[in-house]
Amino acid sequence: MTIVFVVVLRASHQRYHLESDQTVNRGLAQQYIDNNFLLSERPPDAAEVERAIRQLGAVNPRIDIYLIDGVGNIVASSVPESLRVHGPIDVAPILRILRPTERLPILGQDPREPSEQKIFSAAPVAIRELPAKYLYVVLRSPNREAAVSRLQMDYAISENLAGVTAVMLSSIIASLVVLRLLTRPLGRLESAMLRFRDSNFSEVMPDEPLRAYERGDEIERLASLFAQLAELIRTQVHQMRRTDAMRQEMLTSVSHDLRTPLATMQAQLEALSLHDSALGAEQRRDYLEASIKQCQRLAHLVDQLLQAAKLEGHQVKAELEPLQLADLVQDVVQKFEMAARERNIVLHAEAPDRLPLVLADAGLIERVLDNLIDNALQYTPDAGAVRVALSTNGGAVRCSVTDTGCGIAEADRSRIFERFYRVDKSRSGGAGHAGLGLSIVTAILQLHSASLHVDSEIGTGSTFWFDLPRAAA
Ligand code: ADP
Repeated sequence: MTIVFVVVLRASHQRYHLESDQTVNRGLAQQYIDNNFLLSERPPDAAEVERAIRQLGAVNPRIDIYLIDGVGNIVASSVPESLRVHGPIDVAPILRILRPTERLPILGQDPREPSEQKIFSAAPVAIRELPAKYLYVVLRSPNREAAVSRLQMDYAISENLAGVTAVMLSSIIASLVVLRLLTRPLGRLESAMLRFRDSNFSEVMPDEPLRAYERGDEIERLASLFAQLAELIRTQVHQMRRTDAMRQEMLTSVSHDLRTPLATMQAQLEALSLHDSALGAEQRRDYLEASIKQCQRLAHLVDQLLQAAKLEGHQVKAELEPLQLADLVQDVVQKFEMAARERNIVLHAEAPDRLPLVLADAGLIERVLDNLIDNALQYTPDAGAVRVALSTNGGAVRCSVTDTGCGIAEADRSRIFERFYRVDKSRSGGAGHAGLGLSIVTAILQLHSASLHVDSEIGTGSTFWFDLPRAAA
């Protein structure tokens, strides 16, 4: 830029200098003619004209004077013939300068140095007997003012050069500073990214860039976007690892839960086949009944697994229709009555008269009740009580299953809805309870836009409850 600046300045100054010189001297040739230097009153001969021109040239050594004809041939000149070229001068610039509208500078040929173009003055002239048509005055050397101005120009350039150099240096320093300011946050971002990568995508990104999001520049916004992205990756990686661990746990759990009843059943059947002849009819029936029980547990477990898989794969759709929940509860309670009686547990259902209908899928809600009542019986000691109660609750019907069982510790309460989560892992597996029941209940209630809640006290018992929306009248 500095070089371009100097070149442009120089060129423009040269042009200015030529233009001012030529403007000042434009009328010079005409002045000579007006002052009758050719003594045009009487018919001059060629020698006389030549002499007059030479004299004029001698008076002012900074100009060369030529008389030329219409096509540019030199008729007379103040320059000795040995010092100039022969041949015609280009008359086009002369014609241009005679038009007052033409812009200066106009450069013409210098017969002394044909390779150079010079500023000049010209005027039409008519001399009897001679073919001269134009007086052509070449301004050879610049006048004093021009020299002074050129000097000024050189000073101006060198001063400007110093200025430009200073500006250049300060702009380099400024760009370095700006660059540093720009790259520093980028560097910080890079090291944060590296730390994040090296921490195996588990480090929490500093939330500083997040806060800067609103007011920050592009880099800060980039940093904040990165932090958000990193957070997303971190959660997803975390989730992936959890799912992986859960899958692993599930596999172990399922194999264990399947193996126990299978092994029991196998032992019973083997005993039956080995000691068939030694066994009485009653013993044989006991073995068979025990095997059937294990079979039922297996079937229950496989059924729970299948249901959980279907719910997770969104393959289950709730067919909502008006339903009398009291009837359904009655049916389900009846199913469990025998099992409860065997263990001396009081199982009963309570519902107010004229309970409003709810909007629900009967099959799915039956499953919910099955699981909740089954759990209540499972975790209630003999001679306890299980109560299924229905009540209206604003625009909904509330269903609660209360038992006098072992209760659930507060720490476990938030986790029992997870798949395969069991409080006492050693206890329930053999009974076909794989920790799926409550997760199935939760998923089914979600299909009804409802949720499962639990109140519990260790040693006293638990209440599981949910609300179903009333069907429109
Ligand atoms: P499972 O099929 O093993 O019963 P659930 O998902 O139904 O699995 O229940 C998860 C865990 O919650 C159970 O292992 C049990 O510890 C606890 N739980 C569920 N219902 C009750 C209850 N009524 N009383 C005490 N604990 C319960």
